[in-house]
Amino acid sequence: MTTRLFRAVLTVVIGSGAQPVFAQGGAPDQPSVTVRGQTYTPRSILARNMGTPEDQTTAFPPHKIIGNVYYVGTRTLTAFLIATPQGHILINSTYERNVRTIEKSVSDLGFKFSDIRILLATHAHGDHQEGDALVKELTGAQVMVMREDVAAAQEIKPGGKPHPIDRVLHDGEEVALGGTTLVAHRTPGHTRGATTWTMKAAEGGKTYNVVFATSYRAPTTVTPEIESEFNRTFRFIRTLPCDVPLGDHAAQYNLKDKYLRLKPGAPNPFVDPAHCWVEAEIQEAMVRAQLQLQQNK
Ligand SMILES: [Zn+2]
Repeated sequence: MTTRLFRAVLTVVIGSGAQPVFAQGGAPDQPSVTVRGQTYTPRSILARNMGTPEDQTTAFPPHKIIGNVYYVGTRTLTAFLIATPQGHILINSTYERNVRTIEKSVSDLGFKFSDIRILLATHAHGDHQEGDALVKELTGAQVMVMREDVAAAQEIKPGGKPHPIDRVLHDGEEVALGGTTLVAHRTPGHTRGATTWTMKAAEGGKTYNVVFATSYRAPTTVTPEIESEFNRTFRFIRTLPCDVPLGDHAAQYNLKDKYLRLKPGAPNPFVDPAHCWVEAEIQEAMVRAQLQLQQNK
């Protein structure tokens, strides 16, 4: 694993021969890394993740992913509903302005938004957790946050509303409701308490491992502390059993392509074990390239 990784990293092109592209702040858009034939830069990853303001706020057609797991997010910001007979779990409220959009997606699928009992998150940034206070106001859901993300979550207070936190989670803890159990894996790097969630979903007499990945994108400056967090995170996530890879931005798991392949009678396109760690591969190559670039400065 390690050898393969380092070989992949060696092929990384840093600040290639091409003219550097300058970002808005005047910082060059580098490094660039090529993973599985695709080239990425910090700006291209951000653009892919966020899309246009319209992409961030327009509902992607709500759909069943597998078993009791449903998509209720926008075109680029994911939100997942896990429906159970004892109420539902929502992962990621996204922006506060999207909460009513998510509510509509939930009811278009035939579920009641007010039946949401638990609100979870992948990490404490506004594009994933800004809507928490409003979701709680509308549903009474218990909001649960990984301990190391509590401080960051408390900074997210749209309109001055304090961020609700009903339960502080620790690495490896379980959240159970109506026969479904989710496990919170602390996978820091992007934020200190970034959380990758796992659960088992049943469909057609089989059980599938579903992985709700967080973002693994490094900040502009990779400190030694963040580097060691990522070292652990990239090693750890690959040990998780995975059949259905999901992410907190739609592009991280090719939502659109997979959705277009959803056909009655055809194999479920969201079952995609071969691509479980592609996003991690991209982000790991980027972190390693950023570190090399920092060393060369
Ligand atoms: Zn983020």
